[in-house]
Amino acid sequence: MKSILAFVLCLVFLGMANAQLKPSAESVMDRFVRYVKIDTQSQEDQSTTPSTRKQLNLANLLARELTALGAENVRVSEFGIVYATVAGNLADNSKVPVIGFIAHMDTSPAVSGENVNPVIHKNYQGGDITLPKDPTQVITVAKTPVLKTLIGDDIITADGTTLLGSDDKSGVAEIMTMIDTFRQNPQLKHGTLAIAFTPDEEVGTGIDKFDVKGFGAKFAYTVDGEELGEISEETWSARTATVTFQGKSTHPGTAKGIMINAMYALADYLDRFPHDMLPETTEGRVGFVHPYAGVIDVESSNLKILLRDFEVSGLDAKEKILRDMVAQTAAKFPQVKISIDVKENYKNMKEVLKNYPELTNNAMEAARRAGLKPFLKPIRGGTDGSNLTFRGLPTPNLFTGGGNFHGKLEFNSRRGLEKSTETLINLALIFAEKT
Ligand SMILES: [Zn+2]
Repeated sequence: MKSILAFVLCLVFLGMANAQLKPSAESVMDRFVRYVKIDTQSQEDQSTTPSTRKQLNLANLLARELTALGAENVRVSEFGIVYATVAGNLADNSKVPVIGFIAHMDTSPAVSGENVNPVIHKNYQGGDITLPKDPTQVITVAKTPVLKTLIGDDIITADGTTLLGSDDKSGVAEIMTMIDTFRQNPQLKHGTLAIAFTPDEEVGTGIDKFDVKGFGAKFAYTVDGEELGEISEETWSARTATVTFQGKSTHPGTAKGIMINAMYALADYLDRFPHDMLPETTEGRVGFVHPYAGVIDVESSNLKILLRDFEVSGLDAKEKILRDMVAQTAAKFPQVKISIDVKENYKNMKEVLKNYPELTNNAMEAARRAGLKPFLKPIRGGTDGSNLTFRGLPTPNLFTGGGNFHGKLEFNSRRGLEKSTETLINLALIFAEKT
């Protein structure tokens, strides 16, 4: 009887807590639709950060909005990174670690982000979604099975002529709405939050300019993933190999007995690649070797190769295969000098994050409290978080609800945005509860 009473009281309390939550001044949906209309496409191979000046339009807007939401120490750095602090409202904020929330402002150079026209497909009832301005652009259930979980939801897409920019304006809108919600609900108790919005994530250069010390967080989360519930604490460990083939060039008219054509050795080497260990034949947790560029020339040819694996031992094994292949080709072409040089690019952030299991556990708990089923997904790439993690700021990655990033079929949904925002709020509350 007592336990039943406790259960009922608990339900009443939970109901009250929900009823008491005031909505944010601006909904996450409205905010998202507003941000995606601002063109922030970044550009490869630029010597400046941000790579494009237009990213500053969003940076400056976010800085003004952060100030209006009561955030402190709001600044846009010389590299276009927006930093801010949201003061904690606990009796003693020093007992709770400062948690960082990070999203990137730029969109992929792969597809135009100019004049994005967001389209809301209300009350989605299943089936393929044809984008209105280009009927060849169709989001199909076959290729995007997550659509099956979005029945009854309002799906947001672009009109078929541009990308949407869900990657990563979803993360930006969700973090801003979290701050807005905390401002509307001072009864929600949280520690100090550090906020950052970064440029040039898609071209991989913005994060190098990130001021880890000035940011002031003990841990952080990038909010840059896809499907609801998807949490990532693992990235590739990555190396790059360069194999050089040195021959001897001379005038072809008098080349007999003198010329050593390095190209044939390169071709032989390329032919030795194991076909079941390539990006086009692997997925999930299986790593790969990937010859991706090279120079072909009589005198000196070379080949650049990516090595990717979640385990260092797997990476070592792949490096050994490439070195053994060098020996085999060298035996066949004794006159060609062949050398291999392998460089470390980045490491699986799990190497560090395994020492901070509470980061993933709290994120899982936050997602569950939002009614989601969290799951771990290793990222077949690197993230800004892996860079930060190895610079002393452990940073796993959280979902945003979106999908089909970097293309015209990109999307998010009302529930995707709302549940991701709810998870961020829960996460800040959980850190305060647990300390
Ligand atoms: Zn992204």
